[in-house]
Amino acid sequence: MSQAQPCAPLYIRMHEADNVAIVANDGGLPPGTVFPCGLTLREHVPQGHKVALVDLAAGAPVLRYKVVIGEMLHAVAAGSWVHERLLKMPDARSLDHLPIATVKPDPLPPLEGYTFEGYRNPDGSVGTRNILAITTTVQCVSGVVDFAVQRIKSELLPRYPNVDDVVGLEHTYGCGVAIDAPDAIVPIRTLRNISLNPNFGGEVMVVSLGCEKLQPERLLPPGTIPIVDERNVADVGNSADARLDVVCLQDDHHVGFMSMIDSIMKTAEEHLERLNARRRETCPASELVVGVQCGGSDAFSGVTANPAVGHATDLLVRAGASVMFSEVTEVRDGIDQLTSRAINPEVAQAMIREMAWYDAYLARGQADRSANTTPGNKKGGLSNIVEKAMGSIIKSGSAPISGVLSPGEKLAQRGLIYAATPASDFICGTLQLAAGMNLHIFTTGRGTPYGLAAVPVIKVATRSDLARRWHDLMDVDAGRIATGEASIEDVGRELFLMMLDVASGRKKTWAEHWKLHNALVLFNPAPVT
Ligand code: CA
Repeated sequence: MSQAQPCAPLYIRMHEADNVAIVANDGGLPPGTVFPCGLTLREHVPQGHKVALVDLAAGAPVLRYKVVIGEMLHAVAAGSWVHERLLKMPDARSLDHLPIATVKPDPLPPLEGYTFEGYRNPDGSVGTRNILAITTTVQCVSGVVDFAVQRIKSELLPRYPNVDDVVGLEHTYGCGVAIDAPDAIVPIRTLRNISLNPNFGGEVMVVSLGCEKLQPERLLPPGTIPIVDERNVADVGNSADARLDVVCLQDDHHVGFMSMIDSIMKTAEEHLERLNARRRETCPASELVVGVQCGGSDAFSGVTANPAVGHATDLLVRAGASVMFSEVTEVRDGIDQLTSRAINPEVAQAMIREMAWYDAYLARGQADRSANTTPGNKKGGLSNIVEKAMGSIIKSGSAPISGVLSPGEKLAQRGLIYAATPASDFICGTLQLAAGMNLHIFTTGRGTPYGLAAVPVIKVATRSDLARRWHDLMDVDAGRIATGEASIEDVGRELFLMMLDVASGRKKTWAEHWKLHNALVLFNPAPVT
């Protein structure tokens, strides 16, 4: 990677085999600009966009990250702007004959002694926040739950100072859906597993309408809820089981709206009491379950922020923690890199299974992976999904991939995990919450104010210009990597240490400070009726 003073003309080449590089300077560079190597720009090239390092003939492969991101539709001379209209995107890599668990990296040395202050849960998981969640079975109850949550926050929460927040788990599922369709398992288990997220302390309360398709017992069957103390135990034959705490709005005993609100508040208070009695304790960093994703990507995502996250991912894995990377369409073009990094053939096959499922899902909608890139991605210099994917995969660092989750499944192992999700920011975040994420890392180049109510979201800017303009929304400026002010390792380590502070509640993220919360969005690949 070239490095120079921020003001001097600067391009960044990711691999010595690459025949294009991206312009690093804020505002781009004008025609006639001469780089230290002698290359002269033939036209204006915007920041983050590609410049041809050599003459490129029509049909020539264009390489970035030593990967063919497209073929030239017509010839251009060295110093020209190589934008998406000049590139023909390659076909998706076939899922046959992939390298299976071929890469055997030297084991990363363990990283010991790092801890954070967390809330230990009855099931052994650890929360980074202490939040009362109110699960809903159906969208119909959302208005009522919203109303109740506002009153709980203003009237009850001040009496329970150890509880951070109250969150209604609202969504658009629950009725008017083909609930017996095979794919309905995805939204149902997502919602179930979110209710059991470590940040909710094992306290589960449900608000149901009564007539909906997703009945509370279907959402949370016996045995799914942890026993938190003797008060939530029900006698079920010979074995004890946790009582499913449901407020059902259509119950006969509710007369008037306030009766419903009173019921919800009374139930909430029992849970708040228990949550309030909890205290943070010192936990090893291995209890972190970190979900990484990107959104509003630009050409710097894969140069600055995502490589820094990749370094932090390696540190987390070395500390014994769990890290999930996701976003099927943003890794699909690098599937060979992933199957080769799988820890064993079963993991590689699971990855292929998830990709094949998603290919079929997109094909059903007469779309393919190219539907991923946004106008903002292209404006930021990313010509197509191949180029975007190469920059996205870097978030996963260099550790072997030790497990694969299908959408909505709950994580039950440590290490680096591929959690298959759509790339859509809120759907990916929702599915990572279901997997048990207790901390979220989010990189952005174009900028997004993204946040989640249930977990802290640390946002990493790919460019210093964004970090400056959005100084009270971005938590980390990875743009310093492009200008040579910091190394990938510096920013990765800074991020790792910040994670321990944020997980401990010593530091709040900007999204927490402003209470910026995106909606939960369930992934429902099944039909709606
Ligand atoms: Ca995303």
